[in-house]
Amino acid sequence: MSIKEYFKSIFKGIYSLLQGMQVTGKELVTKKVTEQYPENRNHLLHEGGIPERFRASLEFIYDDEGYHKCIACKSCERNCPNGTIQVITKMVDLPNGKKKMKLDRYMYDLGSCTFCNLCVLTCPTAAIRFSNDFEQSTFEREALVKQLNYLPEKEKPVPAPAPKPAPAPKPAPAVAKPAEAQAKPAAEPTPQAKSAEEPTPQEKPAAAPDADKSPDNTENKENKQ
Ligand code: SF4
Ligand code: SF4
Repeated sequence: MSIKEYFKSIFKGIYSLLQGMQVTGKELVTKKVTEQYPENRNHLLHEGGIPERFRASLEFIYDDEGYHKCIACKSCERNCPNGTIQVITKMVDLPNGKKKMKLDRYMYDLGSCTFCNLCVLTCPTAAIRFSNDFEQSTFEREALVKQLNYLPEKEKPVPAPAPKPAPAPKPAPAVAKPAEAQAKPAAEPTPQAKSAEEPTPQEKPAAAPDADKSPDNTENKENKQ
């Protein structure tokens, strides 16, 4: 190798090194985006640091009075692709003597959930949703299995039956018609009855024999001859 080629290779290596350091130098002066958790926890929890639609964990929707809308139909359990949900039901006796299937425990395994949202989309009563509470880490896998119906079930008050309306007064009986008006005239004889009264052709007396055909006339004819 000549001296000229020797120095050429040194400058080529330095140029290659500076090219690689260009990306590092650019990031050195760029504004940092790294989240400093837990120093910025207050920002993430209370100042909109986590997007509203971020799916962190499944939860029940309770109204202000502590009621949920789950009817224990198990649609979410059937549609979950990896068996994350287990809906445990029980039969209860109703005041009217009938039986009804109700929710006993709603178990959700956060450790196996893929956050596909199919359970929420297929729930017919919109009883569940995903919260964006991102602080779900734990040291034990068993702690990731949660019972979502954590509030004791309350019986909804049954509305009192509406009072029955008073029976409508019966209409007064119609004024009796005079007996003459009710008495119908005797029915006219039908054509059949008429024909029954008239003698039939068979019942008519037999026609008198012809005078020419009588035996007396025969004798008279013979005498004349
Ligand atoms: S989000 Fe998907 S995987 Fe998770 S419980 Fe619902 S259906 Fe199952
Ligand atoms: S959460 Fe919805 S889909 Fe699941 S059992 Fe309750 S009502 Fe049915």
